[in-house]
Amino acid sequence: MAATMITLQPNPNGEGARSLDPSVDHEIQAIVSGRLVAETCSTDLAAEPWNFDSRPGYGPGSSMGDVIPTGAPRQGELPAEYRTASEQELAERIRRAKATLGDRVVVLGHFYQREEVVTHADYVGDSFQLANAAKAHPEAEAIVFCGVHFMAETADLLSRPEQAVILPNLAAGCSMADMADIDQVEECWEQLAEVLGDLDTPDAEGLLPVIPVTYMNSSAAIKGFVGRHNGIVCTSSNARTVLEWAFARGRRVLFFPDQHLGRNTAKAMGVPLEQMPMWNPRRPLGGSTEEQIGDARVILWHGFCSVHRRFTVDQIAKARAEHPGVRVIVHPECPMEVVDAADEAGSTDYIRKAIEAATEPTVFAIGTEINLVQRLAAEHPQHHIFCLDPVVCPCSTMYRIHPGYLAWVLEGLVAGDVRNRITVPADVAEPARLALERMLAARP
Ligand code: 13P
Ligand code: SF4
Repeated sequence: MAATMITLQPNPNGEGARSLDPSVDHEIQAIVSGRLVAETCSTDLAAEPWNFDSRPGYGPGSSMGDVIPTGAPRQGELPAEYRTASEQELAERIRRAKATLGDRVVVLGHFYQREEVVTHADYVGDSFQLANAAKAHPEAEAIVFCGVHFMAETADLLSRPEQAVILPNLAAGCSMADMADIDQVEECWEQLAEVLGDLDTPDAEGLLPVIPVTYMNSSAAIKGFVGRHNGIVCTSSNARTVLEWAFARGRRVLFFPDQHLGRNTAKAMGVPLEQMPMWNPRRPLGGSTEEQIGDARVILWHGFCSVHRRFTVDQIAKARAEHPGVRVIVHPECPMEVVDAADEAGSTDYIRKAIEAATEPTVFAIGTEINLVQRLAAEHPQHHIFCLDPVVCPCSTMYRIHPGYLAWVLEGLVAGDVRNRITVPADVAEPARLALERMLAARP
C-alpha cells in the first residue's frame, strides 16, 4: 500500500512535529517499538488479529472488558500464507484479485477500518451509506463488507438473495450490538406487557403502549423483533426523526442497545431524564419500578459502546485550555455529559461533513474512533484535527479486519470459493426489512 506521508501536529509529549502515515496500525507498532512517544490502550494491539481469533474475548483494546456471547461467530485459523505475507505482498494480492474479479465484486469499507484496508475499498462510508452502496450494486456477485457483523447482515437484508455478502473476519462483531440479545429482548417485552397490558393493541387515542426502536448497531434478529412489533430501526444520523415517528404512534419507546444515543437524542427533544429509566436485562423489570415504567417516555437499554465511553468531560476541558477556539465535535454514542460539554454532536458522516465545510483553518477536537480521526487529519492538512482521547485505541472488533483476511476472501472468490458468507434466515429477514423500510420512509 502506498501510504501518504504526512506531518502530524506536535505531540503532547513535546518532542516536536513527527512524521507518520495515517495508519493507526503503523502508529501502534511505532509506539510499541519505542520509535514514537505516545500511549496505546493495549500493547497487544501490535500483534496480528489471528492471535486472538480463537480466544473467547473481543481482543485487545477498548472492548477488552466486554463479554462476548457464547454463540458469537468465531473465525477459523487464517492459512499461514496470509499470516506470514508482508503488508506489500498482501496489498499486491488484493489488487490482483480485485482486478481479476472486476465488477463481480464490490468492496465496502467502514470509516473506522484501518487505512491498509480502506485503501482497497470501492466505497468508504458509515454503516447506512454502505448498506445503500450494497443495494446500489445488484450486478455484483459478491459484496465484501469490511466492517462488523451487523453491517454485513444489513447489507444482506438490502441486497439481492443471489448476492453473497462476505465478512472477511467472522470475529469482527460489535460489543455494543452484542449487549442486546434476542432472548433478553423477548423477556423484556414480556415483562413490559405484564405492567402495561397488551403491547400490540392501541389505546382510545390510537397509541400503542410501547414502540421498540433499535439502533442500526444490532443483530438482524433484533431488527426482526422490532419489525414484528410495530417498531423501527434508526441510525445516529436520523435518531431524532425516528423517535418523532415513534412518539406519533406510541406512548413510550423502548430504545436499544445504546443508552447514550437514546438518552442524548431524547434529551435534545425535551424528554426529562426522570422519564428515561434504564432497562438492565439482568434485573427484574430492568431494575426499575412499575411506576417508573408507567411514567416512562423512553426506556433505555443498558448498552454502550466501549470506544465512545472512553471520552470524558476532562478531555474536552483540556482541549479548550490548550487550544482556545477549538471546535469540539463528538459522536452521540458518547455519554451525555460529554455531548453536553461538546460544541456539536453528530454521526460519523456529520463529523466528516462538518470538517469538509470549514473554510477557515480550524482546530478540531473529535470524539470518535481513531482511524477516522487520523484519516480526516491526513485529508485536511489545513486544519489541526486531533482525537480527544490522547491514547491510541481503535475499535478492537473493527480492527479484526486485517488485509490478510481481505486477501483470503478475495482470492477465494477468484477460485470460486465463497468464504465467510453472512446470510440472514428468511423468517428473520422479512420483518427486519420491514423495520428498515419504515426507517427509510420516516421523514422529519
Ligand atoms: P455509523 O452508523 O456512523 O457508521 O457508526 C457505526 C458505529 O459503529 C459507531 O460506533
Ligand atoms: Fe460497535 Fe463501538 Fe466498535 Fe462501533 S465503535 S463497531 S459501536 S464497538
